[in-house]
Amino acid sequence: MRMTVLASGSKGNSTVIASERTRVLVDAGLSCRELLRRMAVVGEDPEKLDAILITHEHLDHVAGLAVLARRLKIPVFFTEQTHRAWVRMLTPRTTMTYAKWLDQYQSQKEALKAKVPQYSVPGGAELESIAAVSAEAAVFDPVVNRSDDPNPTFELPVDDLEDCDPATPAKVKADPAYLPAVEYFVAGRQFSIGDLEICPFTIPHDASDPCGFVFESLGDGVRMALATDLGYMPPNVKAALKNVDVLLLESNHDLEMLKDGPYPWSVKQRVLSRVGHLSNDATAEFLATDYDGGAAYIVLGHLSESNNVPELARITAERAIGDRMTLLGNRVLLALQAAPLDPIQV
Ligand SMILES: [Zn+2]
Ligand SMILES: [Zn+2]
Repeated sequence: MRMTVLASGSKGNSTVIASERTRVLVDAGLSCRELLRRMAVVGEDPEKLDAILITHEHLDHVAGLAVLARRLKIPVFFTEQTHRAWVRMLTPRTTMTYAKWLDQYQSQKEALKAKVPQYSVPGGAELESIAAVSAEAAVFDPVVNRSDDPNPTFELPVDDLEDCDPATPAKVKADPAYLPAVEYFVAGRQFSIGDLEICPFTIPHDASDPCGFVFESLGDGVRMALATDLGYMPPNVKAALKNVDVLLLESNHDLEMLKDGPYPWSVKQRVLSRVGHLSNDATAEFLATDYDGGAAYIVLGHLSESNNVPELARITAERAIGDRMTLLGNRVLLALQAAPLDPIQV
């Protein structure tokens, strides 16, 4: 069984999991072009992918999803809530920025003032117009938590690959949320794709229905788990991560660096919250006290580029693992944002 991390971090996440007969991509958080480029770099054939699985709808996990799934014509597995949230995210009204909305609101107000004499009591057309503005305000959906990147552009990457493909019907191009096939799974309920058994588990994070996954290859019984984007380690996650051979685990930030770092206060609060991200120390605490010590590899991922240093994350984890770290067990690897990690074969 093989795990290949193509990218990990708040600007894009994607990992290939391959058993003998089945290959899936977990998350598609880079542009389709970049995902294909990185797969070529590590020797993963995209044409052999059977499905894409999505952990949650944040942009750093879905940026290239629609274009990649359409290009490869493979099904996408979501929870129903995550799929709905993703579709909502792609609808045009939610792409309006607050500044743009405020502009529009002000100009409507100005236009209204100009039309209506000072002494008039609101009524008729004016009331309707006010109602329209309020309705717009009500549907305005702040986009602050749509990504784990604190400075995202909230624009999907320009994926020109699809426009070049004359086989893509105009109708499909017009619907940004069109997918060749959608399959739903439920957190806590096991399902399988080919010879891969998949157990999705709920993680505490500020998305609609976020999940981590444990994959088991039915051929040889090897198990690999992914758990990033979680504010803390609840009992269900600790239980899910028992008996795994490869564990991709979040080690997002160094607490001191986050506190002194460049993020605005509100973003710091979000990262630190119970639905934010695991600090190096929180990850180390899990590794020292709850982790069963049975993995060949522990891959630290979703490292913050502003509030962490890879070597700091590694040292903190290695210290927690202690003398359980041997030539054959508990080797610590770092999954980074800028380049894929060499495939891990177990
Ligand atoms: Zn993320
Ligand atoms: Zn997230």
